[in-house]
Amino acid sequence: MSIGEFELINRYFLRHQTGNGVVLGVGDDCALLQPPAGRQLAVSMDTLVADVHFPADADPELIAERALRVNLSDLAAMGAEPLWFTLGLTLTEADSDWLEAFSRGLFACAEHYGCRLVGGDTTRGPLSITIQVQGAVEPGAALLRSAAEAGDRIFVTGTLGDGAAALAVIQGRAAVGESNAGYFRDCFYRPRPRLAEAAYLRGLAHSALDVSDGLLADLGHICRQSGLGARLQLEQLPLSDPLRELCADDTDQTRALAWALAGGDDYQLCFTLPEAALDELQTLIVAGKLEATEIGVMTAEAGIDCRLHGAPYLPEQAGYRHF
Ligand code: ADP
Ligand code: MG
Repeated sequence: MSIGEFELINRYFLRHQTGNGVVLGVGDDCALLQPPAGRQLAVSMDTLVADVHFPADADPELIAERALRVNLSDLAAMGAEPLWFTLGLTLTEADSDWLEAFSRGLFACAEHYGCRLVGGDTTRGPLSITIQVQGAVEPGAALLRSAAEAGDRIFVTGTLGDGAAALAVIQGRAAVGESNAGYFRDCFYRPRPRLAEAAYLRGLAHSALDVSDGLLADLGHICRQSGLGARLQLEQLPLSDPLRELCADDTDQTRALAWALAGGDDYQLCFTLPEAALDELQTLIVAGKLEATEIGVMTAEAGIDCRLHGAPYLPEQAGYRHF
């Protein structure tokens, strides 16, 4: 069944939500929003295009989750707390079942992370979803890519390579047993924005970003913008049990390392920490507040120097080494 544009907005995207400084939400020409006193707004936008960023026939509930979660990951990477988001939706048709599932996934996720939908735009065309998120951060507290210092230890939250492995599974390029299928589906569609972790890292880490394009490419941004390089100990890269199982029959570690280094879509935080803050981080890790693994150190020399058990390692996608 197909419905009109205004009925579509009213039925699926108009919710009378209050809180978070929403003075006026969806329905007028603009939303009216009151930012928290004295805080800066952090603003970010990501577009997901069907058959580029997700299969067009994917479960709409999961498409919505992924679209919002990858945006919230950018707020986490900045050390900002979610407030609001807007939604640019381009649809091939106004299908009620699709919209019902999409909006259900969207609002469930928005509620979970305390982020309010305050507006958007709806157009007809090839399926694509653009979300812009806005968050709040204390002046001076944002975690910048440009603030790493030589000697900082490099950490990542969670595990790496799952996003790329999940894409391979979804596209049928890798096979997993029933027990791990759900794990990889969640890695791809429901990446967890590291907002709680980011809250602990504010004031502790020098710099941070979220790993969306692959560790080498993203750490490369920190290197370039901080005028530094990095040395990585690849045997320390944290890999999940499902990823290890998936690669158990490989004759070497090339595939797992390629996924962890260059695969992308992990949405973990990569952050750099001054040596003086190591004890405090360790205390947080032991207390179960955040999960993070040390993988290397920032260096004064440009470039990313990868070592595997001490020996130089040239990653498959060596192109990413040009900084
Ligand atoms: P205008 O023609 O003034 O741009 P629209 O008809 O595009 O107005 O939108 C009407 C209202 O519905 C606005 O408040 C807009 O923010 C909201 N809106 C439109 N599309 C969406 C959407 N996909 N999600 C949330 N709000 C939307
Ligand atoms: Mg409009």
